[in-house]
This record gives sequence, C-alpha cells and structure tokens, in this order.
Amino acid sequence: MAQLVVGIDLGGSFIKGVLTDRLGKVRRWERVPTEREKGAEHVLNRVKSTVNTLTQGGEALAAVGVGIPGMLDRDRERVFLAPNLGWRDINIRSELRRLIGVPVFLDNDANAAALGEAWLGAARHSSSFMLVTIGTGIGSGLVLGGEIYRGANGLAAELGHMGLLPQGTRCSCGQRGCLETLVSAGAILHEAREASVVQEGAEAREVLELANSGNKEAVGVVAEAMEYLALGLKNTIVLLDLELILIGGGVGDSSAGFIDMLRDRTIDLLPVKREVKIKQAILGNRAGALGAARLALLELGS
Ligand SMILES: [Zn+2]
Repeated sequence: MAQLVVGIDLGGSFIKGVLTDRLGKVRRWERVPTEREKGAEHVLNRVKSTVNTLTQGGEALAAVGVGIPGMLDRDRERVFLAPNLGWRDINIRSELRRLIGVPVFLDNDANAAALGEAWLGAARHSSSFMLVTIGTGIGSGLVLGGEIYRGANGLAAELGHMGLLPQGTRCSCGQRGCLETLVSAGAILHEAREASVVQEGAEAREVLELANSGNKEAVGVVAEAMEYLALGLKNTIVLLDLELILIGGGVGDSSAGFIDMLRDRTIDLLPVKREVKIKQAILGNRAGALGAARLALLELGS
C-alpha cells in the first residue's frame, strides 16, 4: 500500500494541507482559515480537523509535516516566536502528535518551501540553493549538499535579518537596517507612499505593476529595493557559492521583470564572475505544504 503523508502550511491567514504519496502524487488539497485570533489551542484543533478532512477516504496516514511561520528550537519541538500567529514559546509538536495520533514533524515555513521546490519544483536538479520568499517579510530556506542547513541552533538562513544599513530603520527583530526593512512588501509600500507613487491602502503588487509599466517614480522605488536585495544575494553567494537562488513569495511571484533585473545586478556585484542561476520559484503558495509533506517523508526515512 502507498505510504501517505499530510503536509500542512500553517499560515497566519490560512491553513493549507495536502495529502500525498511518497512520490509527490497529490491525492487531495484542503484550505481553511487559520482563525489565529481564537488562540493556539483552537488553531491546533483546526490543523487536526484539516488532517481528518484530507484522510476522510479512510487512508492510513504515516506522518504529518507542518511548516510554521516562525523560529523553532533546535529540536523543532517548540515555537520560540511566530509573530504572524501571535505565538511565543509554546511546545506544539507533542500537542499535535497527541491530537492527530501519528508522528508529527515541524520546520520553519521557508525551510518547508525550499524542500518543496527541491522535491517537485524549480530546484529539482540543484543540491546547493537558497529559496528567498519576499512577502510581508523575507523568508529563506537554505539547502546545502541536498539537505536543509539549519545551523548550530536551528536558526540558519535568516536572510531577512542580514544587516545592511547600521543606521537604518528599526526591524521587527529589534535591530536596524535588516534586509527585510529594505525589500519586503511593507518596505516597498512605505517608500512608494513617501514618494507619492501610491495612495494609502495600496498593495506592494501595484507598485511593481506601475514599475513594470514604466512609471518613473515606481521604477525608482523598486530599483532601490532591488539594489539592497542584490547586495544581500551577492553577500550570500560570495559566502556559500550557491548554484541557484529561487525567488518566491507575493513580491517575487508577481514580477518576472524584477527577477531579470535582480539577476543582472547581483551578477554585476560578484567579484569573480561565475555560473549562478537566479530565477522564480514555481510552486507558488503550494510549496510550503508540499515541502512539509516531503519533510515528513524524509523524517520517516522514506
Ligand atoms: Zn531584523
């Protein structure tokens, strides 16, 4: 019988789940609102009911993988901090295991998305790459030698908090001038409003669309953000000599032109020219759940 797992992408707005076999053949998708305002216990029960819905065909489930938008401890048992869920220092792995009744494995959502792209997406043929998601914040997952690199404390690949401007804007992490304060959707919107490119209530996507259509001020805002992102990617490449960088997330997905400019500028900045691919991720908002399923399979040794 096929070994089936569920992958869950636990987002601040939606819980997305997928039931798949060990080859990535998808049996079912499910998506429900997270309802995070009702508290962690309620959200964990929503995860449980999502798993139940996905397996209502009576399929035997081997394990569940869950991608969490936040920082986990080294053993990936506890969530230290997940601002988008309003969680701080809670042990969710044992609670989910108790609720669902099969092994549960956790990872950071960007790591899960990187596993998804490595399994079924744009990084299938790369053993050393980084996925960068640009949305409300910046997420990144790093794969070295075919495996997620988590670092000594499980906190590796926090590209969004790479410091670029010592006197810059205060970041959500408490430091100043992190990449996330310069390139995220919020940062782009802030700059666009300052330059009167868009009105209050606009979305970052609109700034990118305006830039694509040649609006001079919008081009200026996007070019400045891209300059910092190129610097962050250059720093990463000179450190790790990666073969591929994938760009995803709401901002990354919305503009192929942005990726082309980013690639050219990053390669310009490299001291020694080399073969490095910078391209769009292809799984979009399915990467997290598919990667969480892959995580479960890897942890099971499948
Ligand atoms: Zn920061």
